[in-house]
Amino acid sequence: MDQRLYPTCDKCGNRVCFPLIGAEEKPPIEEAPPFCPMKLHADVLERALSEYDKEDIREFARLASIQEAECYEQTPYGLRTKIPRVEETIQFAQKNGYRRLGIAFCVGLANEARTLSLILERKGFEVVSVCCKVGAIPKERIGLKPEEKIMGPQMYESMCSPITQAEILNEERVDLAILLGLCVGHDTLFIKYCRVPMTVIGVKDRVFGHNPLAALYLSTSYYSRLRTRAKE
Ligand code: SF4
Repeated sequence: MDQRLYPTCDKCGNRVCFPLIGAEEKPPIEEAPPFCPMKLHADVLERALSEYDKEDIREFARLASIQEAECYEQTPYGLRTKIPRVEETIQFAQKNGYRRLGIAFCVGLANEARTLSLILERKGFEVVSVCCKVGAIPKERIGLKPEEKIMGPQMYESMCSPITQAEILNEERVDLAILLGLCVGHDTLFIKYCRVPMTVIGVKDRVFGHNPLAALYLSTSYYSRLRTRAKE
């Protein structure tokens, strides 16, 4: 076990990075816990902050924060949310002046990809989409044994090709790539190889209707096995 102090924001009981103070006041950073990245990595903070001095990055970040704020509204009853992520994505793409969007989807979410594409096209975007099975390359190509395939040794099984999906969207010069439902690991490869701005509209969860957080909400009850300690 690493004894060195390292950032663990999830365990913070004094979130001074997100203070409820007036616009003119200063956040009490000195009250942050010892494991706070603001204390442990002050140099990184400074370096990262200077990236926002680049004009294009600053503008992108500015539009992202405007979009974030527009997802809420002040009402007499308090702060309310009003924009689902699909709409948030559309509005952010419009703010950036994007015209051509790319969808990298899992074959298991082909219907969702079609619906998303229809919605985006109706909002005036050109939509390029690439299915994970593109190439129809057998899984044996990456070293899978016949018995390691989902459908069994007797069936042809195309491998997921997230690198190909990313490279096609790079080649097609989409303004924004949208990830839809790729598996864990395949999404990691897509992100590694994607060279255009990208965002995620959905992540795969085969059990919870692509809402992986449901497992966290049920981790004190039906899915308590998630909380049992791994054996050393
Ligand atoms: S950045 Fe510091 S203050 Fe903020 S949550 Fe992390 S540990 Fe807490």
